Amino acid sequence: MAPPLPKAYEDDNIFAKILRGEIPCDKVYENDHALAFKDINPQAPTHVLVIPKGKYISFEDFSRNASDAEIAGFVRAAGEVARGAEGAVERGFRILANHGPEAHQEVHHFHLHIFAGRDTGPMISR
Ligand code: AMP
Repeated sequence: MAPPLPKAYEDDNIFAKILRGEIPCDKVYENDHALAFKDINPQAPTHVLVIPKGKYISFEDFSRNASDAEIAGFVRAAGEVARGAEGAVERGFRILANHGPEAHQEVHHFHLHIFAGRDTGPMISR
């Protein structure tokens, strides 16, 4: 089981360090409100993470507290990433967000996973 969600955003999470430039990432796309980079342990030929630049723990936090501009910029960034994966619009792609321990959220900075380049199988394991 993944760790419980913190009560408040923690600045020492790995994606906060990437945003501060303290550790590198393989950047795919960036706009004013979002950064997208390749997952370090890819589960598909394309596996990109899209994160907001603001400090949000999870989708629940982001959807509740982010401004309309942040939400729009983030969603547009995810669209750019999906369109940028070769053949993904035609053949298919999957977007996934984990919130909390039962969803196995490991990093407590909100992120979308975008998978493309193979059949991603059934929606969740049964
Ligand atoms: P989640 O379980 O939804 O929190 O997913 C966290 C994801 O972050 C995993 O797919 C990891 O492989 C990925 N990850 C962890 N550290 C890094 C890193 N430094 N750069 C890129 N991806 C990372």
